[in-house]
This record gives sequence, structure tokens and C-alpha cells, in this order.
Amino acid sequence: MIQIENVNIIDVETGKKTEGSIGFSEKIEWIGEPQASPDKIIDGNGMFLIPGLIDLHVHLQATSTVHWAEEMMRKKSGMNHYIAYANALRHLKAGFTTLRDCGGELWGSSLRRSIDSGTVIGPRLIVAQWTISQWGNQEAMGPDEWIELQKRREVLTGTDGVRHAVRERKRLGSDFIKTMTTGGVLHGMESKLERTLWTEEELTAMVNEAHRLGMHVAVHAHGTQGIIHAAKAKVDTIEHCSLVDDEGIKLMKKNNITLVPTQTSAFMDKPELMMQLPPEVRKKTIEVDSAMIERHATAFEKGVKIACGTDAGVPGNPHGTSARELTIYVEKLGMTPLEALQTATVNAASAIGLDKTGGIKQGYVADLLLVKQNPLEDISNLENPINIIKVFKSGKLVAEKGKALPVP
Ligand SMILES: [Zn+2]
Repeated sequence: MIQIENVNIIDVETGKKTEGSIGFSEKIEWIGEPQASPDKIIDGNGMFLIPGLIDLHVHLQATSTVHWAEEMMRKKSGMNHYIAYANALRHLKAGFTTLRDCGGELWGSSLRRSIDSGTVIGPRLIVAQWTISQWGNQEAMGPDEWIELQKRREVLTGTDGVRHAVRERKRLGSDFIKTMTTGGVLHGMESKLERTLWTEEELTAMVNEAHRLGMHVAVHAHGTQGIIHAAKAKVDTIEHCSLVDDEGIKLMKKNNITLVPTQTSAFMDKPELMMQLPPEVRKKTIEVDSAMIERHATAFEKGVKIACGTDAGVPGNPHGTSARELTIYVEKLGMTPLEALQTATVNAASAIGLDKTGGIKQGYVADLLLVKQNPLEDISNLENPINIIKVFKSGKLVAEKGKALPVP
């Protein structure tokens, strides 16, 4: 058992700070007075202890380049394992002990298992291997090889096709289902933000089948109608949610759906990247980026639950910088630092049904960060990994001052 003494323990639900000690192995065993014979004592030195952070939207196989489509066509699929692993470590040393990968190739369940079994050190992974795309999805434009590649994710039309696709993802080792009810911003001219891809019956069948198999459903949606469509089908999280309107907000609250903002994926203010985009993609980027801050601020103000997700891996959004997202929530969405911290801890855990994670309580998983400064005073302290003195995952020390530790 590890004992940290003389530390300020932050309760992320109330914002209350308790000065004292904590003892943990895989789980948190006690909080309070120091005990007699721990295996290891760490002097907390008056620093702060917060739960390990959770990013609900990353793409570990993606490398943040504008030229992602070309890159995808030029690498062997086996390389994705290593790229994803290196990127997972970048998050871990930045204090993110849990990541949800929102739709990658077939490396996800193997990497998750390699980490869980202790073969390699890494964050806890929740993976959706292969998104579920409607037949005839977004990329009608492009070389034949690209269209063939996309077809692997597309499923047969109708409720049976959709149910089969859910079960196939389950068999592949996915933890949850990722689908889209609108096109994407960066996905080319045929990918429309206002177009809803699934029929109501298909989407409802997908959600019901996933829930029946113990999987939650994350839906990518930018346009207003696609968000309403997803909210009506009672999905679990809506990603991006850029052009959400009052009806969408009402439905999300009614059906207890969490909004995952991915604010750091906006790059309208990164002219060097904007210049490299095809004109029609640039137009969509401006449309979405200029609206989403205000729409998300309204959703937050009206009580929609928000959980941290960054879309790390998309152009200009490098892995290991997810804490920036929390600073944006404070600066632009009107959150207090505590509310921002909640999005990456308690809110993220409850949005996807992660049990006993995202808080510091007896019996909870010992995912803990020892940090130099109080994040409730200035959330941006978390952006610099140097301030994150120690990272524990399931009670094991996995990173120190911005460096991941080797396999023990
Ligand atoms: Zn994404």
C-alpha cells in the first residue's frame, strides 16, 4: 500500500479541500490519519491530489496532421498499434489516466488488453473499433481505394443491418458504439453537416441493441437536425454538438445525454492550418467553429451535462494537450475551474457508466494525480505536465513530471 501524507485532497463533487493523508493499493483504502505500516510513504509536501483525468474523445491512431487522408493511405495498418500506443503515453504523462477512443481500426482491443494485463504501461482505454457508418456514407469523392477503405465501416441498410453491425463490433472487442448522424467538418465536400444519415428506425435499433449488449453509444453530430435525431434516439453522448439549438438542448436534458464539446479541435484561429484545407472544407470549418462556443455556452447555462472530450489527433490538436480543453471551458463556456475539472472526472465517468472512477473516495479506483498548484485556483496549471508531479493508475506510479515510466 502507498501512503501519501501532508497533501490537500480535492473532492471534485463539492470542491472541498481536505488536508491529510491517503492510503491506496489498486483502490483507495482510506482517507484521513496516516497509518502505521504502509509499503511506501510519499510526502505530499502540501501539494494537491485530484482524480486521474478522463478524455472521452481521442483518436489515438491519428497524428494531428492536416494531411491525414494521405497519411492513412500510405501506412501499413500494423503501424497503427505503435502510433496509438505512443499517443496513449502522451496522454498518460499529461495526467489523463482514462481515454475513450472514438473509432479506430482494429488495434484497439489488443492495446487495451496489453495495458490491462501489464504487458505495457498505459492509460485505461475504452475503444470503439470501426465506427458504424451508413451504407453510402460521406466520401463519394476520392479514389476507389479510399472508398473501399470506407466501406469496411459501412453497414447494410435497415434495422437488421444495423443490429448485425453492433454485434460485429462487440465481437471485434469494442467497448462502445461510435456512429454519426451528420457529416464531418474535415471529411470533404460530400460530407454535409445538415444531412442526417440514419433513419429513425435504424438509429433506435442501433441504440437498443448496443444497450442490450452493455455498450453505450457515442454520436458524432454537428448540424442541428442530426443532434435532435440522436437525442430522440436516446444515445449516451453527443460529440461536437456544434449547432445545437433549444430543441436539442431540451431533448438532451430530458434524456440525460452528455455533450462532449471537443473545443480544442476548432482551428479557425490557426491560419497556417486553414490555408492547407480545400476551399469547401475551409467554409465548413468557419461555419462550425464560429458557432460552437456560443452554442455550448448556452447548453451549459441551461443545464446540459458536459464531459471533457478533445478529438485529440485531428489536425492541429496533438495528443497530450487535452488539459487545454478545460481552460477553454473556463475562459469561453463560463465554467468555474471546479466545473471544468468535473467534466474530466465525475461527469466523464458517469456519462459512460465507469464505476468508482473519477473521484477520490474510499473504494474508488486509485487513479490519482499529485499536482503542484491548486487547479481550482487556476485550471490552466494542468496544461503543463511539469506541474503534474506524479500520476498513479490503479494505484501504480505510471508517470512523473511529464515522463511516462518504463514497464516495472
Ligand atoms: Zn472524433
